[in-house]
Amino acid sequence: MSVLSTSVQYIKGVGPKKAYRLKRIGLETVEDVLYYLPKDYEDKRKISLLASGTINEKGLYKVTVSARPIVTRPRKGLTILKVHIKDSSSEAHLIWFNQEYLRDKLIPGREYLVYGKLKKDSYGLQIQNPELKPWDDKNHDQVITPVYGLTEGITNKDMIKIVRFVLDNYLGSIRDILPENISSKYGFTHKRDAILQLHFPKSPKSMVKARNQLAFEELLILQLGLLRLKKDSSQSESSIIMPKHSLIDVFIDNLNFNLTGAQNRVLEEILNDMGKDNQMNRLVQGDVGSGKTIVGIVAMYNAVLNGYQATMMAPTEILATQHYETLVDAFRGHDINVGFISGNQSKKEKDMVLQGLKEGEIDVIVGTHALIQSDVTFKNLGLAITDEQHRFGVRQRLSLSDKGLSPDVIVMTATPIPRTLALILYGDLDISIIDELPPGRQQIKTYAVDSSMESRIYNFIISQIKEGRQAYIVCPLIEESEKLNAVSAEELFEKLKDGVFNQQRVSLLHGRMSQKNKDSIMMEFKNGNIDVIISTTVIEVGVNVPNASIMLIMNAERFGLAQLHQLRGRVGRGAYQSHCILVNNSYSKLSRERMRIMQSTNDGFKISEKDLELRGPGEFFGTRQHGIPELRIANLIRDIEILKAAQNEAINIISEEDWDMGEEYKEIRESINGLFYNGSDEIIFN
Ligand code: ADP
Ligand code: MG
Repeated sequence: MSVLSTSVQYIKGVGPKKAYRLKRIGLETVEDVLYYLPKDYEDKRKISLLASGTINEKGLYKVTVSARPIVTRPRKGLTILKVHIKDSSSEAHLIWFNQEYLRDKLIPGREYLVYGKLKKDSYGLQIQNPELKPWDDKNHDQVITPVYGLTEGITNKDMIKIVRFVLDNYLGSIRDILPENISSKYGFTHKRDAILQLHFPKSPKSMVKARNQLAFEELLILQLGLLRLKKDSSQSESSIIMPKHSLIDVFIDNLNFNLTGAQNRVLEEILNDMGKDNQMNRLVQGDVGSGKTIVGIVAMYNAVLNGYQATMMAPTEILATQHYETLVDAFRGHDINVGFISGNQSKKEKDMVLQGLKEGEIDVIVGTHALIQSDVTFKNLGLAITDEQHRFGVRQRLSLSDKGLSPDVIVMTATPIPRTLALILYGDLDISIIDELPPGRQQIKTYAVDSSMESRIYNFIISQIKEGRQAYIVCPLIEESEKLNAVSAEELFEKLKDGVFNQQRVSLLHGRMSQKNKDSIMMEFKNGNIDVIISTTVIEVGVNVPNASIMLIMNAERFGLAQLHQLRGRVGRGAYQSHCILVNNSYSKLSRERMRIMQSTNDGFKISEKDLELRGPGEFFGTRQHGIPELRIANLIRDIEILKAAQNEAINIISEEDWDMGEEYKEIRESINGLFYNGSDEIIFN
């Protein structure tokens, strides 16, 4: 194990308690600390004059205390310490709240260095809660200091000490891993120096340079990792060849709808791949409701017709159950055995399934991540499909295909991302896009309201129920919280079931309920025995109830745009006019803008782009959403140019003969090993 994996607990001044706190901000090892990107910097190199200081910006001033400090107590729990100061250009007040102890440090006639945000009001200039230290010629050591993201119990001063300690003691074990020709091409310095500059830069310019270098290295490794996955799999000649069977067209003709042009096109791409002798690795991307499932089903049918088994993995039990039913339905009368596996089955049930799979009695199996457990073996797996792939890690997707001898692989996702980025992010996959909704879909009407509309909304829901429809109500929390000012599902359920909805059949659904419970409620809802489900986002993924026509989202301001779009996609799945009502309790400009976007379009791609613009990088495109390793320095949006450069270099490197063995790539190869084996091993529920 590398010394860099030393726990932060052993850093001087940390110990178990602070280590626990640091863990909350993702700092567990000294390596984490080395790459902990400051969120800002304070430039304390230049002393400004008060008269020329920039208002509302932080600055450094050399001042003389010109009067005795005054302490006032305007109300209980509030002490104000105020002192008059001046420099050669002007005068000002320094003001501290609840820091009375500073009074004795402020001696009239003495000089101080003061750092803080300069403000101006009708009383003149002032600086609130400034940093302060007595002036002497030596102590103005003119530095740029980092400002770190903090957590309770850890101050920025603590963080700086921790980082300094780690730099002093561990920087020496950092080695350069980039090949010489790349470093010189981009003018990179030694990695040690870059890390140092990241925390304590000589100048803003050297900070940017260091950050870019580290981001490049990180992205290069990611790209190499992804490319290698792709290379491994497309090279693995698979003996599995599954040409399009003649019964496929009959099957499609017998569906009770016509496939859309986009579905046909994607299906053709898939069937074409299946007929080849190398492994298919294909991402099928399509907005909610675009009909990805049927495409998967046809592919599975083709696998079975060719004598192979096929499997489909879903991230939740509800979704897996739904797929199971769809498959049983679709294959009725086709002499195809469909199995189901989940973590919730009895041992007896499970054993039967396992045996059926092993002996080839089961042709097609649907399941949750129970599918990738080690006790699951197939007789001859030919096709592995992962639905809602953004909820799984890369590693999990691979585990599923490891179940066979290089079976063909399809991953399906409704998370729309711009194509350029997808190509890079899913560098190891080919991409198919279903960019068309089945005909006749009603546009979902979307309204943004505030909670003053509540009783009108409930009446509207009741009138819809009277017409035979059903409704979802989604809340951000499960239970009441003192800290957060948001509606909880439990609370609302209690309030509504004996209140306005006392004539309706209302049920509660949330992630803390047992799987059995959740399933039976969802089933009852699907069967029309429940009118209203009050829920958290557990219903977010793929559940299909065509009769549901209302989606009411409480505290809509607490959800991301992409998530709102997914939730909205739960309705509008049948022939009925559907409605999505967003209750927005925030008056911020940002939330109003987000509500406006939701009202203006139903297009997932447009929404994802807006989401990106509004939320800024790092959230929607957060790596968690895509199952790739957490990035420390790089940002997939802001660093798109660096990403492109890194991708080009990665393509060059991996095509070199030396790549697999050469000394100059040894360090990089080691960095790639294990890239997809950390952290991203867990299923991602968010
Ligand atoms: P998603 O892409 O979100 O997974 P689904 O596969 O669940 O979407 O499809 C949503 C609904 O649309 C299902 O009820 C499905 O039967 C139906 N559907 C799929 N394709 C078509 C089509 N070409 N025409 C009409 N309905 C379709
Ligand atoms: Mg789906």
